[in-house]
Parts: sequence; C-alpha cells; structure tokens
Amino acid sequence: PTAVAPVSQYACQRRTTTENNNKIITDAFEVLAESYEFNEIEGPCLAFRRAASVLKSLPWAVCSLEATLDLPCLGEHTKAVIDEILQCGRAFEVEKILSDERYQTLKLFTSVFGVGPKTAEKWYRRGLRSFSDVLADHSVQLNRMQQTGFLHYGDISRAVSKAEARALRNIIDEAVHAIAPDAVLALTGGFRRGKEFGHDVDFIVTTTELGKEESLLPRIIRRLTKQGILLYCDYQASTFDMSKLPSYRFEAMDHFAKCFLILRLEGSQVEEGLHIAEGDSRGWRAVRVDLVSPPMDRYAFALLGWSGSRQFERDLRRFARVERHMLLDNHALYDKTKKEFLAATTEKDIFAHLGLEYIEPWQRNA
Ligand code: ATP
Ligand code: MN
Ligand code: MN
Repeated sequence: PTAVAPVSQYACQRRTTTENNNKIITDAFEVLAESYEFNEIEGPCLAFRRAASVLKSLPWAVCSLEATLDLPCLGEHTKAVIDEILQCGRAFEVEKILSDERYQTLKLFTSVFGVGPKTAEKWYRRGLRSFSDVLADHSVQLNRMQQTGFLHYGDISRAVSKAEARALRNIIDEAVHAIAPDAVLALTGGFRRGKEFGHDVDFIVTTTELGKEESLLPRIIRRLTKQGILLYCDYQASTFDMSKLPSYRFEAMDHFAKCFLILRLEGSQVEEGLHIAEGDSRGWRAVRVDLVSPPMDRYAFALLGWSGSRQFERDLRRFARVERHMLLDNHALYDKTKKEFLAATTEKDIFAHLGLEYIEPWQRNA
C-alpha cells in the first residue's frame, strides 16, 4: 500500500504555491467568508478561509466528495458547497451573495483605499449605493486617506505587476542606499511569495547598525517628496519596546515604524511598460507601497510576519500557541514553558524553534 502523508490542519505544515488546482471552489469559499465577515460572523468566516487554504495546497483538483474524506478543516457546510459545485459548476448560496445588493455595495466601498467594513456599513445604512452617492452626500466626511483613495481609485484598484514591483524596488533601493550605505532592503509580502500581481508592494528597510533605523523612514519620505513622486504618505513612528514584550496582545498589527505610501511610477522606469488601461496615455500610474522598518535584531520576525500570506501567518501563530505553548508575532518568539525569548537571525531559526520543517516563501501562498 502507498502511504500518502496526511494533509495538516495548519497552513504552516503545508506547501502552497501560487498554482491553485481548485480555484472555482476556493473562490466560492472566499465569497462566503467575506460575506460572513461583512456580517461579523467570525466562526463560519474563519472556517471557509481555512477550508479554502487547505484546497489551495493540494497538488490535485478535487473531483469528487470521496476525494476530500481525509482532508482536514472541511465541515458539513463546506462539503455541501463543494458537492454543489462539482455537480452544477456553481453553488446557489454563492450566486445569491454575489447578486445581493448589500454584499455588492460593501464590496465596492471597501475597495477604496482607507475604507474598511465599518465605514462601508455606515454608508450603506445611510442609503448610499455608489461612489457618486458617497461623493455627493454632504454628511459624509472623507478623511485624507479616503480622499486619496477616491482620487487614485483607478490606479490603486488595478493590480501591480512584477515588473512594476521591480521598478519600485530600484527606486527604494536607490533612496535607502543614498541615505544609509549599510541599509538593508528586502522585498516582502505577496511578491516575495512569487505572485505575478499584487495590490501593493511591501518592503522591509533597516540598517545593520542598531538604532540607526529610527531615522530611516522619515529620511526616505523626505527624499521621495523632493523627487516629486510621493503622492500620499501615512507615517507611523515606532512604538516598539522590547521590555514590554510579551505583555502586548500578540496580534497581527506590529509596533515597528512603518509607512503606507502611494508613489508615482513613470512608464520609462518599467521595462515591460506600465500595467494600465489600454488607451491610457498618461505615461505614469499611482502605486501603493508599504515600508516597515524594524530594528535589525527583530529582522527575522518582521520578515516572516510581513511575508504572509495572512492565512499562513494566522496558522503559524496558532501552531506556536496550541502545539508548542509559544507566542509568535512580528517582534519575537516567546516560550511560555521556559519563560524566555528565543533568538533568531533568520526565518529558518524561527521554523527550527517551532519544530517545523522550513517552508520557502513561495510555498506560503496559503
Ligand atoms: P497583496 O498582493 O494583496 O498585497 P499581500 O500578501 O502582500 O498580498 P498585504 O496586505 O500587502 O498582502 O500584507 C502583507 C503582509 O503584511 C501580511 O502578512 C500581513 O499580515 C502583513 N501586514 C499588512 N499590514 C500590516 C500592518 N499594518 N501591521 C502588521 N502587519 C501587516
Ligand atoms: Mn502586499
Ligand atoms: Mn501591504
């Protein structure tokens, strides 16, 4: 008999490339998860996200319910949806959500940079249904982020290509090295996982000299401003304090200095040309860029935390907590049994502390 290794319930014990053999089913699950999220129903939302993640990791396409018998994280509801898709090519419940006015409107509003589910819900309850409704309503007060979101909506909602990510890397690379010769720059987020397209480009920037990283982001921001390519900047200074660990709630948001930017990218800077609408002759586009700047001794944790995917991160933390009695976040790894922090200079060190096989960034598309 051939022994097939069982699929783990944890994404951090699975290898998930960008190749998805079950896209029709996982897309359906993601619609359901998002719909539950809009209705603040956490349990089923998480269940559908987990189920989608399991199916994304399979090197084969699910073509019968029997084939899913040994898979983790699939309950009655998820299996019913799979069954319907296998039989009819689509699921009634998903079709119903996709044609639902509330879902459509919340989806539209949350696609604007700076608009989260809370704001979208507020606008929906006021009877607003379109962007022109929102912009014409005098009782709506847009913050600076949302104003920028509407201003650059077309560009920001269009995917960023790998070639554009490379061009942005050159721009950031030039800036950080002009400022600090010992600067360290690393691509992170979806592009580090090998994705062809992303909604933004994420970088970690720091300096080998501890403490020098504190002035790095403000100086990069000043430089980009002088170059005339900074269209928007939301800078958040560091609130990181090692002496307060691990008393912070171990959560997704970290305390490192970071900035959420919108940059102007010139077509001449992108080898393959800009990824813009056909017939658009502006010669430039706006792109979302995130920079995070941890101190060098936190580098491995920040890199692991910002590389994603979100589901991979969630399961790494859950695995650490449940299986190892450890707390992992973007700053540190804490062993609750030994009551001590575990040091790491590379991601491999962190996987080793957790007793996990190393998973390459391009295998973390959970
Ligand atoms: P996409 O192609 O859509 O950008 P992505 O995986 O790069 O996909 P991002 O939203 O850019 O998605 O997030 C990248 C990683 O950074 C994720 O793992 C996420 O957990 C982390 N992250 C994003 N925003 C923050 C934040 N404010 N604080 C801490 N971590 C964050
Ligand atoms: Mn990203
Ligand atoms: Mn990002």
